[in-house]
Amino acid sequence: MQVYKFGGASVSDAQGIRNISNIIKACTATPLLIVISAMGKVTNQLERLCESYINNESDQHDLLEEIKAFHFSIAHELFADQQHPVFNDIANAFVEIEWLLEEEASDAPDYIYDQIVSIGELVSSKILTAHLNLSDCKALWIDARNYIKTDNTYKEAKVDWLKTEADIQKTLPALLAKSVIVTQGFIGSTSENFTTTLGRDGSDYSAAIFSACLSANSLTIWKDVPGVLNADPKWFEQTEKIPQLSYHDAIELTYYGANVIHPKTIKPLQNRNIPLYVRSFLNPSLEGTDITAERTKNPVPSFIFKVNQVLISIFPKDYSFIIEENLSDIFSILHQHKVKVNTMLNSAISFSVSIDHNPNQINALIDQLSGSYKVKYNTGLELVTIRYYNQDTIDRVTADKTILLEVKSRHTCQIVMKNT
Ligand code: ASP
Ligand code: MG
Repeated sequence: MQVYKFGGASVSDAQGIRNISNIIKACTATPLLIVISAMGKVTNQLERLCESYINNESDQHDLLEEIKAFHFSIAHELFADQQHPVFNDIANAFVEIEWLLEEEASDAPDYIYDQIVSIGELVSSKILTAHLNLSDCKALWIDARNYIKTDNTYKEAKVDWLKTEADIQKTLPALLAKSVIVTQGFIGSTSENFTTTLGRDGSDYSAAIFSACLSANSLTIWKDVPGVLNADPKWFEQTEKIPQLSYHDAIELTYYGANVIHPKTIKPLQNRNIPLYVRSFLNPSLEGTDITAERTKNPVPSFIFKVNQVLISIFPKDYSFIIEENLSDIFSILHQHKVKVNTMLNSAISFSVSIDHNPNQINALIDQLSGSYKVKYNTGLELVTIRYYNQDTIDRVTADKTILLEVKSRHTCQIVMKNT
C-alpha cells in the first residue's frame, strides 16, 4: 500500500482539488491512503481567529466568515449540485467554532488553539473526499483523531505509538482494501478524545505515522517544488534538485532547517525502511527526490539559511574555564527557556550559541544567565549551514560578510555572519 500526502499549497483553490484528484486517480498501485493539510493559508487564518477569540477582539466573527466564505466558494466551484451533502459537512465543521465563540475564552490557550485550528484539515479532507467520489474514484473519509492518539500537550502533542499503531492496524487495512481513504494531517486526539495538533507543518509527520503503522511500501509527499533542492530558491538563484538522498542526510538537512519536509517525518520511515518520495504536484510526471536507506551517491553541497539570529556569548564572571559543570548549568537554563540552539561553540572561557530571535524569550534568558555569567549578544545575524561544504562554497556565501562564528564537522559547516 502507499501513502500520498498533499500540503496546503496543493489545494489553495478549486483547481488544486481537481489537480490532486487527477493525481490520485492516476495512481495504479493500490491500496492508497491520502493525508491532506488545510487548504492554502487556512491554518494561518485560523491562528489569527484563535488569537482574536482569546484576546476578545472585535473581528472574531469577520475572520470566521472570511474562512467559511473561502471554503464555500471553492465548494461552489466544484459541486454544481447545491444540495450536495458536502455543503452541510462544511457548515457543520464550522458550527464547532461558532459555539466556541459564543462563550468567553476561559480554557487554556493551547487547548483552544487545537480545537479551532484543527477545523482546517477536517474541512479540506471532506471537500477532497466528496470531489473524488463525484469524479468516479471511490473514497472514504476517516477521522484521523480516531487513529493518531496523543498525550495532552496541546499545540505540540506527543504521539502514543503503541495505541496509534494498534488502532490503525485494527481497522484500516480492511477499509483500504475497499476504497481510497482520505484523512487529515496535523491532528490527533487524547485518550479522552480531545482534539490535539502535532505542531505547525505536522501533516508530513502524520503521513509518516500512517505509513509506518501500515508498513506502507512508500510515502509520497507532493510539493510545489520538483523535489528536495540544495537551497531555498528564496535565498539562492541557482538551485539544484537532489535526485537521491539517504535518510541520514535528509534528517541532517531538515534538522538544520531545510523546510522541505517536517523534521520528524524521517525517523518513523527510516525505522521501517519505507522509501519517501518528494514530488511536484505541478509536474506529476517528473521524478522527484527519493529518500531511502541507500547512501547519498553524489552529494551536492546544500545550503540552509536562517536569518534573524542572535549570537549569545557567555563568560564566567571570574575568568574561570568553561567546563562541564558550567556547561550543564548553561544547558539547563537554555532548556528551561525552551531555547532551540541552532549552533554552538565553546572556548576556554566562553560559550556561544546562535538562536532564533524571539525577543521575549531572549530577554528572559539573558536575565537569568546574567545572574551567574557575563553575557554579550549580537542581533540581526544570519546563520548558514552547508552540508557537504568545501572552501569554494564557504567563500561564496561569506562574500561581503563578517564571520562571527564558524563551526565545522566532517560534512557540515555552520557560519554565523553579518553584513559588512
Ligand atoms: N495545516 C497545518 C499547518 O499549516 C499542518 C500542515 O500543513 O502540515 O501548519
Ligand atoms: Mg499547511
